[in-house]
Amino acid sequence: MAGYTPMIQQYLSVKEEAKDAFLFFRLGDFYEMFFDDAINAARELEITLTGREGGGEAKIPMCGVPYHSAEGYINRLIEKGYKVAICEQVEDPAAAKGVVRREIVRIVTPGTVMESKSLESKSNNFIASVAAAGGMLGIAACDLSTGELYVTSFLDTLEGLTDELNVYMPSEVVGDAALLDKLAASAGWSRPVPLTAREPIAAGKLAEQFGEEQLAALSAARLRAVGQLTGYLEETQKRSLGHVRVITAYEPNQFMILDHYTRRNLELTETVRDRSKKGSLLWLLDRTGTSMGARLLRRWIDKPLLSKSAIDRRLDAVETLYRDLILREDFRAELSPIYDLERLVGRVAYGNANGRDLNALKTSLRRIPALAELCRASGSKVLMELVEGCDDCSDLADLIETVIVDEPPVSIREGGLIRGGYDDYLDQLREASTNGKKWLAELERAERDATGIKSLKIGFNKVFGYYLEVSKANLSMLPEGRYERKQTLANAERFVTPELKEKERLILEAEDKMVDLEYARFIELRDQLALHLHRLQRAAAIIAELDAYQSLATVSAERRYVRPTMTEGFGLQVEEGRHPVVEAMMDGAPFIANDTRLNEKEQRILLITGPNMAGKSTYMRQAALISVMAQIGCFVPAKSAVIPLIDRIFTRIGAADDLIGGQSTFMVEMKDIQIMTEKATASSLVIIDELGRGTSTGEGMAIAQAVIEYVHDHIGCKALVSTHFHELAHLEDTLPSLSNARMAVEESGSDVTFLRKLVSGAASTSYGIYCAQLAGLPQTIIGRAYALLDDADQAASNQPAQLPRPDRLAAAAIPERPEPHVAEAPAPGYSVVQLSMFEESAAASAEPQ
Ligand code: ADP
Repeated sequence: MAGYTPMIQQYLSVKEEAKDAFLFFRLGDFYEMFFDDAINAARELEITLTGREGGGEAKIPMCGVPYHSAEGYINRLIEKGYKVAICEQVEDPAAAKGVVRREIVRIVTPGTVMESKSLESKSNNFIASVAAAGGMLGIAACDLSTGELYVTSFLDTLEGLTDELNVYMPSEVVGDAALLDKLAASAGWSRPVPLTAREPIAAGKLAEQFGEEQLAALSAARLRAVGQLTGYLEETQKRSLGHVRVITAYEPNQFMILDHYTRRNLELTETVRDRSKKGSLLWLLDRTGTSMGARLLRRWIDKPLLSKSAIDRRLDAVETLYRDLILREDFRAELSPIYDLERLVGRVAYGNANGRDLNALKTSLRRIPALAELCRASGSKVLMELVEGCDDCSDLADLIETVIVDEPPVSIREGGLIRGGYDDYLDQLREASTNGKKWLAELERAERDATGIKSLKIGFNKVFGYYLEVSKANLSMLPEGRYERKQTLANAERFVTPELKEKERLILEAEDKMVDLEYARFIELRDQLALHLHRLQRAAAIIAELDAYQSLATVSAERRYVRPTMTEGFGLQVEEGRHPVVEAMMDGAPFIANDTRLNEKEQRILLITGPNMAGKSTYMRQAALISVMAQIGCFVPAKSAVIPLIDRIFTRIGAADDLIGGQSTFMVEMKDIQIMTEKATASSLVIIDELGRGTSTGEGMAIAQAVIEYVHDHIGCKALVSTHFHELAHLEDTLPSLSNARMAVEESGSDVTFLRKLVSGAASTSYGIYCAQLAGLPQTIIGRAYALLDDADQAASNQPAQLPRPDRLAAAAIPERPEPHVAEAPAPGYSVVQLSMFEESAAASAEPQ
């Protein structure tokens, strides 16, 4: 360090405390960065890199951003996954001896941003921590902006950990270095997520934050995870976090387990194609009026329940609202003016709420009495219980009302915040300032009269204060002596008088005092509110829950869903089920409903065959989505539904992005199946689309058969399996709980019409060549392909079958393909039409002969 100027030395020693962050070093009106930080920031932020003499041999690289626009730059760095340490001057430069003392006042990181601009209102921003202790892995996840803190633990397997982490989609993870290394290798996040190794905070400090009682209930791994997270928050935020006091602990088996792929495949919160919300289940179900409600609904979808009574409770509340349109509308009307209470409370606790935030808090709290009344009048036990003895926080709303004016400014340091009549002294100062201004107006008039100068006026500027201004033309009319010249302009002169100076002192003093006093009163109010955070959070939680019920009820009523009957038994019976999202996205065309019936004895597994585009995967996803919807407490798209509790859904549905990971589709499929064989229980639902593709036909078919047999004999769970190996249909004869089904098609001449209807029995062909024809391949290719297929079939019938093939199906296996229509190939998609009115007859004609 030797040789550097004292300021650069100071910079370097502060930088030591924030090696992994950009250090924003406050110098006057700028935040400056030096050395490598400057080089990297100039690149990331596209700002000019300069240099500065710093006492060393070469110039020091430097770049900077203005203080007043720093937030935007900080956000950009945070979005890219960086951290930013804010270093401020912490003593008055005038009082400083030597270099002004500077300290890091906060480290902004992706998981700890509090600024509303960088936060998505309808989703949480979690920071998670991972810890290993006592043979278990613990996860804690906190949203600093709302104060939520969740914790859970698993047996020591990485999959459980990554699956759970993926539920939170954290923007930052801290914790045990060894675990972070494993995560870095396996997580596959779509954006940069900084990982920071961290030891737990000292036990005493942790107890201060949460109290001994809450901590005593945590196992070693959970305690460690909470300790690491708290330590990191304390270190980066450098202030007390009064809104993070409640630890919500849960067991993973309280909820349906959905691994990362299944969440994506089922498009629960975002679509596979472009990761947008539109087209996801969340998009369909989100009719919430508040941000808290929207975030809660997302959490419900992320974590479907596994307890029948808890699900029934939600369904009861939804049903009350479902049946009563007026009640729903009243609810929506009361909910929509409510601001993001959770985040407002976070800002109060964090100490960055301004006057407008407090008014937003007040407006929101004012809706609680009416909401509570609606609940009490609803006749719903659940809604009544929810608001029983509900604290409407009206004392806090009144308090804000008394203190803060109706339209406060953004800044809390420039006055204009505090209502008249609240503080006597403030009122006196205001009066003095107003009187002073009146006095000035009087003076202006008196001086005009005395001098006879009509254009004489009193003005103010920051440098000279109040002055009298006289135009050059009128200067001669001024009497000598009384006026002291202060400033000369092109065509006017400015003067002061001793009286004016005296009044100025009084006015400015009053104004200064006013601003300081208003600030002090505001902070008092904010601190006062901060003593009631828990009450405010409780109110926010109730509002969120009501909003989520309202949202589910609104969608259910509008889309004519029905209440599912939840059972603890095995059987799943859905009559005329629909795929909720596909149905909602179809404008006009009818969605063809299908039954799903799975039971323990005769039909645990459905083996579904049928051509591409027939609707197989839509049908299978539909069954999974109906289960998820039921288990979050929503009505379901069906005529009637009996839904058993599903502990876990596995999906293996070909995903295009597997290839990006550098793994072959087949390998990915096999790995998923391996996990399924290990984890699935009899209460799980397994969905496999196109089992066994991606390798040679013989092997693919062999593996598919072996997997199906394993699911049937060893797991015993409900399963929907689609395959293009229609030859596998014979499994129905050897596996008592497996049934064949297929998507019905109607053939007429060269056209195949998809009826989207599930019928029993296996398809006799997969219509691969027909599909090729639809896609517009040259007729030469199509004709040749049919010829080759005929040859292959001939050969096959002369040889003993590789796989056991029951006689009954041997006949059906001879493809009854549509005759290729050589002269006139249909344009792609041309003849793919839905004929719902032909459902019945077509289903009959498509039965195997
Ligand atoms: P497969 O898996 O058999 O190739 P998909 O399930 O992908 O077929 O369905 C193909 C298309 O058919 C879907 O994009 C959807 O728009 C439509 N579709 C599927 N099922 C239905 C249905 N039951 N009613 C109406 N349209 C459907």
